[in-house]
Order: sequence, then structure tokens, then C-alpha cells
Amino acid sequence: SNEMRIAVGALEIADKVVENVMTKLPDVFMLPDTTVLNAKTVMEIVKMGYTRIPVYTNGDKNNVTDLLFVKDLALLDPDDNFTVKTVCGYHKHPVKFVMNDTPLPHLLEAFKKGEGHLAMVKKLISNDDKDPSYELVGVVTLEDIVEEILQAE
Ligand code: ATP
Ligand code: ATP
Repeated sequence: SNEMRIAVGALEIADKVVENVMTKLPDVFMLPDTTVLNAKTVMEIVKMGYTRIPVYTNGDKNNVTDLLFVKDLALLDPDDNFTVKTVCGYHKHPVKFVMNDTPLPHLLEAFKKGEGHLAMVKKLISNDDKDPSYELVGVVTLEDIVEEILQAE
């Protein structure tokens, strides 16, 4: 039955981690903070169909500093040619980060408590001689967890 599948799905997420359900970085639609929001770029952004867009600084996709919400663009005058940086500085939506090996039930709890339903996923990279560093590997949203629950066989 459907009820049974959902119950099984809810149990199955206990064994899964963020990395199993996230959208991988090469598939994430992100923007550099230098992007000028004119009629053309706003149309391209809206056409992508995402609600939240990670924004990176200094041309480094590993350096996500903000989230742009597509609804932030509604009141914008495209002739003002504001940059993404200016619009993000005005709205200041906080960016959440989670580790790639975070169990899904933990992320679900974090999403329930917090206001945002998208998190950037980072992974610890160990270097032989240097200090370990973090690398962004994807994004995960509440939708990814819900999908996992509903998709159980
Ligand atoms: P909403 O459903 O709240 O309008 P949305 O459709 O933009 O938002 P979600 O429903 O949260 O996004 O997620 C749907 C899928 O899209 C998930 O797999 C998620 O990982 C992925 N996703 C969300 N934002 C992005 C993005 N900027 N680039 C690529 N994938 C994304
Ligand atoms: P998102 O989280 O994708 O930005 P949202 O905040 O508009 O979207 P949801 O997160 O889906 O909406 O829902 C949050 C709550 O707001 C739910 O209780 C939902 O029923 C309610 N809600 C959503 N849209 C409306 C609306 N147009 N008017 C009143 N309540 C709404």
C-alpha cells in the first residue's frame, strides 16, 4: 500500500546521508556575485526554474556567500542594472552548510527548526602535507529528503 511505502521510506532515510540525495555541484545553477541583473539575465535566471540560487564571490564556486531568491527579482527595475551582489546585500538570506556525511534524519531536523530549506553540502578534503580543507560538492533541499521518503520500493 501507499501508506506502507511511505512508512518504509521514512525508515530507510535513517541509513542515508546527504551525499546520497544531494544535487551534485556540476548540476547546480549558481551565479557569480558580479552578474548584472538586466532584462536578459533576469529572464535567463527565471527560465532556469529554481527558487533559490547559490551566489559565489571572487569567481570561486567553492566560495558561496549568499543565496539569491528568484522572488527578490520581482521588484527590481532591470534598467537599474544592479548586480547580484547588491541585491543579496539588501536581502541577506542566510546560507546554510552541511557536511556530506550528515545523516538525513539530522538534516530533516535542521530544516524543521530553521527557516531555510536549502543547504550547501561541503566535504572535508585531506591533503598530505597541507591542512585539511573543505570543498563544496552540491546542494540539498527538503525536497530531496521528501523524494527519498516517497520513492521507497
Ligand atoms: P521550490 O520547490 O521551493 O519552488 P525549487 O524547485 O527551486 O524550489 P526544490 O523543490 O527545493 O527547488 O528542489 C528540487 C530539486 O532541485 C532538488 O533536487 C534540489 O537539490 C534541486 N535544486 C534546488 N536548487 C537548485 C539550483 N539552484 N541548482 C540546481 N539544482 C537545484
Ligand atoms: P517556499 O518555502 O518554497 O518559498 P512558501 O513559503 O510560499 O514557499 P511553503 O513553504 O510551501 O510556501 O508553505 C509555507 C506555509 O505557507 C504553508 O503553511 C502554506 O500552506 C502557506 N502558504 C503557501 N502559500 C500561501 C499563500 N499564497 N497564502 C497563504 N498561505 C500560503
